[in-house]
Amino acid sequence: MSTQTVRGAGLEQRSVNRDGFGPSGPSLRIRVRFHGRGGQGVKTAGRILGTGAFLSGYHCQDFPVYGAERRGAPVASFARIGNRPIDERGVISEPDLILVADATLLDDPAAGVLAGNEAASALFLNGNPDAPLPDLGNRLHLIRWDLTGAAIGRLGRAGALSAGLGAAAARFVGIVAEEQLVEAIRSEFTHLGLSTGEVDANVAFGLDVFRALPTVSFRDVAETEEGLGDSVVPMIPADPLAGGPNVISPGNATLRDTGAWRLERPVIDRDRCTRCGLCLIRCPDGAISWDEEGLPVIDEQHCKGCLICRQICPIHGIGLEEEARP
Ligand code: SF4
Ligand code: SF4
Repeated sequence: MSTQTVRGAGLEQRSVNRDGFGPSGPSLRIRVRFHGRGGQGVKTAGRILGTGAFLSGYHCQDFPVYGAERRGAPVASFARIGNRPIDERGVISEPDLILVADATLLDDPAAGVLAGNEAASALFLNGNPDAPLPDLGNRLHLIRWDLTGAAIGRLGRAGALSAGLGAAAARFVGIVAEEQLVEAIRSEFTHLGLSTGEVDANVAFGLDVFRALPTVSFRDVAETEEGLGDSVVPMIPADPLAGGPNVISPGNATLRDTGAWRLERPVIDRDRCTRCGLCLIRCPDGAISWDEEGLPVIDEQHCKGCLICRQICPIHGIGLEEEARP
């Protein structure tokens, strides 16, 4: 996760220059969520947007969420941009803008592409603009564009979408100028160790996309100063299927009694639990789910006792008991 004053060595933040949204103007907060498949570059796309916003004088966060899956598995990343310090943490459940690197993810309920879209103003879908789509209603501003075709044209690769996806997001939010976008792409790809030629090609790809797409009007992102003035941190429990690993079908998990590996067992203090969901997201075995009361419950058959949940719990609400052995 990155924040405004520590954004990488050598990057200098400029002052906000957008009319009406300077440090003394109305508060601005935009929440962006990227969806893609492992290897398409949604993490770097989020970084490019965050760095571009930072260089334009805004506060920013960006971070991905993915499990142990391999190339092709659903991956998401997130970015928050504001002209005030951002207190919010955690995954973005109600984005203002959703960008999807692969429209086939709409058919994958585990990807959660449309989760919380009721709050979104716009949905960007990479893919054939004429391909049939499921019913998305008419509330979302839908932008369909062949980003993959543009990537093949510039880079000769269908899967390298990050510069284009980050540029699209930067264009839609309308607060990042070309100069800052180029600097952001250079910074991110140089950091990743790409050659000068590869960096230049990605800059060209990003500029192609940035110049071809429009900005987007967001609903309700200019909030009152009072509305953002407190330090309440909304931690909305995320759908575990949208990010973390989960045992959703029998497979061989029913045959592997990994709970038998446990030397110590985690014990959740249900009276103190704030339902933040961090234990659920971080459990490497997907052994925690919500019960009917909306509280985390541990699958004793599959909890192997690593105690990562205990380490991650922000209120220290998970104790431990020595496992009783026969
Ligand atoms: S101890 Fe490890 S495996 Fe068990 S619930 Fe906690 S994080 Fe999951
Ligand atoms: S991390 Fe702690 S507070 Fe958060 S849901 Fe789990 S037990 Fe509750």
